[in-house]
Amino acid sequence: MARRTGEQQSRGERCAICEARRQQATVEIFQFSDEVDTYIFKIDTAKKIVADGRAPQQVSQEMLRAFAGMNEFDLDHMLHVDLSRPGIFTRRFGAPILLDGTHRAIRCFAKQKQFYAFELSYEESVECLLQERKSE
Ligand SMILES: [Zn+2]
Repeated sequence: MARRTGEQQSRGERCAICEARRQQATVEIFQFSDEVDTYIFKIDTAKKIVADGRAPQQVSQEMLRAFAGMNEFDLDHMLHVDLSRPGIFTRRFGAPILLDGTHRAIRCFAKQKQFYAFELSYEESVECLLQERKSE
């Protein structure tokens, strides 16, 4: 039996993110906070909405840099992602927020590859909102 090596071997093994995604019951969420509010988005809902046949957009280097610096990420999991899958972003008060695809965005940024993402309209992003906490 040949042993798989390198990236292939580590794929999905002992990665908390991959483990969580294998559990069917896991609801994937994305939490975003600005100075005032905290929003929690349901990623599954976002994925269903963008599956309507719309085309992914090319993400500019500038936007990609903002995405890469915005979200927390796991270094191990970066090697497990499929770069051919577009991310999902929306805009709040004009500023783009990446809801899905952080690890892909960071890897594309590091490798200077073109990253694509589907855009959710404001109304669509509201549909994905699980919770919105306003601070007093
Ligand atoms: Zn992983």
